[in-house]
Amino acid sequence: MKYSLSILVSLLSISLLAQTPTKSISTPGGNAKPKLVVGIVIDQMRYDYIYRYWDKYGNDGFKRLVNEGFFCRNTNFNYVPTYTGPGHASVYTGTTPAVHGIIANDWYDKAKGKNIYCVQDDNVNGVGTNASEGKRSPVNMLTTTITDELRISSTMKSKVIGIALKDRSAILPAGHTANAAYWYDGSVGGFITSTYYMKELPAWVQTFNKQELAKKYMSQPWNTILPIDQYTESVPDDNKYEFIAKGETRPVFPHNLPDLMKANGGLNMIRSTPFGNSLTKDFAIETIKSENLGKSTETDFLAVSFSSPDYIGHAYGPNSVEQEDDYIRLDIDLGEFLKFLDTQIGKNNVLVFLTADHAAPQVPAYLMDLKVPAGYIDETKIEETLKKYLLKNFGDTLVLSFSNQQVFLNQKLIDEKKLNRQQVEESVASFIQNLPAVSEVLTAVTLNNSQFTEGSRYLMQKGFNAKRSGDVLVNYQPSWVDFPHYGTTHGSPYSYDTHVPLLFYGWNIQHGSSSEQIYITDVAATLAMMLNIQFPNGCTGKPISFLVK
Ligand SMILES: [Zn+2]
Repeated sequence: MKYSLSILVSLLSISLLAQTPTKSISTPGGNAKPKLVVGIVIDQMRYDYIYRYWDKYGNDGFKRLVNEGFFCRNTNFNYVPTYTGPGHASVYTGTTPAVHGIIANDWYDKAKGKNIYCVQDDNVNGVGTNASEGKRSPVNMLTTTITDELRISSTMKSKVIGIALKDRSAILPAGHTANAAYWYDGSVGGFITSTYYMKELPAWVQTFNKQELAKKYMSQPWNTILPIDQYTESVPDDNKYEFIAKGETRPVFPHNLPDLMKANGGLNMIRSTPFGNSLTKDFAIETIKSENLGKSTETDFLAVSFSSPDYIGHAYGPNSVEQEDDYIRLDIDLGEFLKFLDTQIGKNNVLVFLTADHAAPQVPAYLMDLKVPAGYIDETKIEETLKKYLLKNFGDTLVLSFSNQQVFLNQKLIDEKKLNRQQVEESVASFIQNLPAVSEVLTAVTLNNSQFTEGSRYLMQKGFNAKRSGDVLVNYQPSWVDFPHYGTTHGSPYSYDTHVPLLFYGWNIQHGSSSEQIYITDVAATLAMMLNIQFPNGCTGKPISFLVK
């Protein structure tokens, strides 16, 4: 990397000044701190999508981030399960489910004896909706986020707002102390929040919702933005590996949204179209304008997550024309958003980072047809056979839940029946280990008594929360999933699920790239160093050395 003399001089002066308590640090960007941090998470974006669709991207979106920013090309999630709730929590807390406690999207709550949703909060109510989708808050997350630390360090003067179509993708990044988190409710066709944050939607959100943009976007068919024969990075549009919407006979373009909407979730259907990204971008721009983000003397933070790529990936898979079209259109939305940041706040005043909450495997059915080892698991069936086995051997089924690759055993009953916990766990483990879909199994006893330092066992341990997780953790063979035979899903410790893009851009970021191993938990630690604030209180990541000199 080349430095100009003036940059070298400023770098030198930072290191000298950093030792004395001074408020006005001269930095290469010319500003002591960014006016605004924008965190962009793209739900289910795999690292290789940067390159795969490169020729189809314009110059203003992904290419601009790569060409002007810093690309950490080897960034991986460092725990299982690789899902959206834990993903967003880990990016912003700088730690893994072992510490932040968001062990899945939904999980069996041992204390409550029932399933809970990661951002479920029965003590709050929806604002802007009557639906139960409003009863949400970050209450289940056990640690602070980088956004919390920014708020606390500025004695609550920095503004922090989280937005996304998915509630968990807005709420967890914004942290416990956020000014607001807004998420989409298809029953109102607009953005809502909860009483955790406020009593009433701000006037500007009400005005935004009154424009009925979701309805407008859904009043046109979804057709490919380029002539369909140019989608050379994807398999033919008509194939057997894709979800067929109600009212369609084949999974092909054009998807006539006005006709399909009614039978496919009404205005919620926008989630699984590229227009969900456009709506999120529109709302992000309106949030920055209406809340005057980046206009005060303190650093503000907007956490925005684009959820539609995940819905589209689940339905159509990574090789579909639908996904390619979604990324081409997302690139345009991203370009528009970056241009808006230029004019509203200025590139040198905004620190942008872009990453994903997890990635995704190839459609297993497609791999099987290519003779690649892959397969489908039915966890419900595994649970049934496991229960029969335990009934025969221990006189009771003993299983409370089998979910997120974890078996939750009825420890109370095990104690009552004076059974040996470790013996039961080991018995469950050896039964499951023998199933063809399973690659390895770890018991809670093992996880509590050992320290794994690499490989999938390390990732299982980092996802294991001693209080919340199950008693036996299961890992499936590569490319084996519990999902219908179309589209794809995610959750494993394999690189197809863990390897995501990580780009930094704007304030103080020198252009470059690195293939050094980075963990997703390093993002929050890096931001803390850049902003000169405390690390989130459970942070286990470390600053990325070549970004924070
Ligand atoms: Zn997903």
